[in-house]
Amino acid sequence: MHILIQYPALQAEIDKVAEVAGYLWQKGWAERNGGNITINVTDYIDDALRALPALTEPRPIGKVLPHLAGCWFYCKGTGRRMRDLARDPMANGSIIRILPGCDSYEIVADAPVDPTSELPSHLAVHDYLLAKGSPYRASLHTHPIELVALTHSRKWMEKDAATKMLWSMIPETRAFCPRGLGIVPYLMPSSVQLAEATIRTLNEDYDVVMWEKHGVFAVDTDILNAFDQVDVLNKAAQIYIAARNMGFEPEGMTEAQMRDLSQAFGLPK
Ligand SMILES: [Zn+2]
Repeated sequence: MHILIQYPALQAEIDKVAEVAGYLWQKGWAERNGGNITINVTDYIDDALRALPALTEPRPIGKVLPHLAGCWFYCKGTGRRMRDLARDPMANGSIIRILPGCDSYEIVADAPVDPTSELPSHLAVHDYLLAKGSPYRASLHTHPIELVALTHSRKWMEKDAATKMLWSMIPETRAFCPRGLGIVPYLMPSSVQLAEATIRTLNEDYDVVMWEKHGVFAVDTDILNAFDQVDVLNKAAQIYIAARNMGFEPEGMTEAQMRDLSQAFGLPK
């Protein structure tokens, strides 16, 4: 049975995931099964849902995440394609609940689709967000082409070098991605070290973290907003590249123009 039919607010959140999954595919950021999405849907869970039986045995997360007590998540399925998820999110992802003890979970709906292999790192990020009282409920990992290309140069891997350049390409980047782009040097995909470095960098007050030669990890209140931050940053990278392709180094907005913008919009940093 499709549980979502009876829960329009929950359905709306999962529809946003499907919408974003379609964008990721259209933009060429989600080849094969690339990328991951998890959203914290606990706010939409009522007693009737809590009473639903599990579809699977409890599975270990691999760590204790104490702030996830009583939490529920929608997770992209392991090995599933974003382009398939866009069509049918509940056949290519599942809803899980965290079990007492905060070290294991079970799949509740709609089908026993195994969550992404990146689940422990995504859940660790959600645990971190809840611990600091953040309103953020969505996490996104994807492979935006131009942003990934930037990380193949040492110059753009320096702290805030890419942020400054991207902000200076078009005023909206500074306004709509006001915390910039955090940088994580290359680490093995799926590793504990990568998850820890991501949380450390988010904690330096970035919403979008760049993994060298791999992709981005973004968090925001919902999945559309997380996508928008990555989209805005990647657009700025495309403008930089367009200027370079025209044969010149783009001038960029001046420090004074950026300062005025920050004051006018009351932006952080
Ligand atoms: Zn990836």
